Amino acid sequence: MGFRSGLGSIIRLNHHERVAVSRFLVISFLLVSYGSFAQNELETAVITDVLDSTVHAVPEQSAVQQMANTKETGHSDLAYPNFVAPSYEHGISTYTIERVPSPRGNGIFGYVSDPWDYISHDDELRINQLLYGLEKKATAEVAIVMLPSIGTEVPKDFAVGLFREWGIGKSDTNNGLLILTVMDQRRTEFETGYGLEPVLTDVICYRIGTQEMVPNFRQGDYGAGMVAAVERIKQFLEHPDSVAEIYSNEVQFESNADTNFLGVVIGVFLLVYGLICLITGILQYSRLQGIEHSKDDFYDKYHRLDKVSFGCLLLFLLPLPFVWLNRLAKKRLKKYRYAPRYSKVNGMPMTLKDEWAENAYLEVAQVLEEKLNSVRYDVWVTDDQSDVMVLEYEGPNGRKYDDCVACGYRTFGKKSSTVTKAPSYDYGGERVDYYECRNCNFQESKTVELDTIPRPTSSSSSSSSGSSYSASSSGSSSSSSFGGGSSGGGGAGVSW
Ligand SMILES: [Zn+2]
Repeated sequence: MGFRSGLGSIIRLNHHERVAVSRFLVISFLLVSYGSFAQNELETAVITDVLDSTVHAVPEQSAVQQMANTKETGHSDLAYPNFVAPSYEHGISTYTIERVPSPRGNGIFGYVSDPWDYISHDDELRINQLLYGLEKKATAEVAIVMLPSIGTEVPKDFAVGLFREWGIGKSDTNNGLLILTVMDQRRTEFETGYGLEPVLTDVICYRIGTQEMVPNFRQGDYGAGMVAAVERIKQFLEHPDSVAEIYSNEVQFESNADTNFLGVVIGVFLLVYGLICLITGILQYSRLQGIEHSKDDFYDKYHRLDKVSFGCLLLFLLPLPFVWLNRLAKKRLKKYRYAPRYSKVNGMPMTLKDEWAENAYLEVAQVLEEKLNSVRYDVWVTDDQSDVMVLEYEGPNGRKYDDCVACGYRTFGKKSSTVTKAPSYDYGGERVDYYECRNCNFQESKTVELDTIPRPTSSSSSSSSGSSYSASSSGSSSSSSFGGGSSGGGGAGVSW
């Protein structure tokens, strides 16, 4: 409301105009945001593609190594220490960084800090075993923290603070990882040390989160989600070759991006198009408003507005603002034409005479103009006939007639035309157009040169060969472009 009345007072709009302007702005805004939305949507789709390709590639490629891996980290090969969980203080629901129980130190040894037991003891043991194996093999230190609440703290900031507080990871390699889950905010943060970042990229962490955790967490199975996530992380960290896999997939992703290029172009186009609509709409509207609020009388306003033409091209290219502006302009033209008039001589109100009554006030030539529809006259008369005002508007046939150079009325138009020299295949011809003033019979003729006639044999053969050529070419081009499309699509399909 504040916005509307504020805008309204700046350019002095009445209620209907305000409604119209706000409607127009809303539609333009929607169009602009659709443009940017379409673009974002595509970018998100592209990112998801990378994620899919990176994560799915690993198990396919290193299935054998995976089996070997589960064997070597299996219970038989590794002697696990006795994991000791921290002794949790009961009654705390909102945690600060300082109060989060550390899974290390003072006789405590493990990787999980889970004071509210969101993870079952079996799952916790499994996680501890997996992460112990990981630390032994890849020297990566991981801490899993499950908290009911951190109050109004931002989980990301909390994770950064907790990571720093505990000093997760070896100081020389900085290969720590903290996975913080905040229950009431339904949020899990991955905080990686510098040493792990190149392997556990944000993209991969995000993917592990959405693929392994989210589905399980939504079922309330936090243990299963965390075990699956830890298994995946272990896989990434223990197999440097899986990193090569990731990079090769990212290269393929770039070629996939080409197939989405058209979509991005369309998104950008919609955005730019929306902006153009908005800007030209506002510019044209301010022109209309300039006329509306000028000090000209209605007759001058009418002719100024009449000159502001919204050509068919603009109407076609930018239908959104211009259909509306066109309607507004037409409405205003009508308003300007039929607004109550007062005599400039004595200020008395004037009445508009109808088509029949007005003839009494018009000259014979003006009646003729009306009959030819080249000019429309409005005759306004005061009740006591003391003042007569004749206002001139262009008629529907206004373009067919010119102002006669002899009598000055808009009654000069084409009467007939004769071909005086027929054109041949080799030579052009001539035509004479005769013009006459319907009022004073002033006459004029104009000679128009005619082009040669196109030869029927050459034209038909060229057109037929042209058509057969275009048919064959369109056939071949469509098959070649189709072939290109399918090979691009096939390439895209294989990488997924
Ligand atoms: Zn004339």
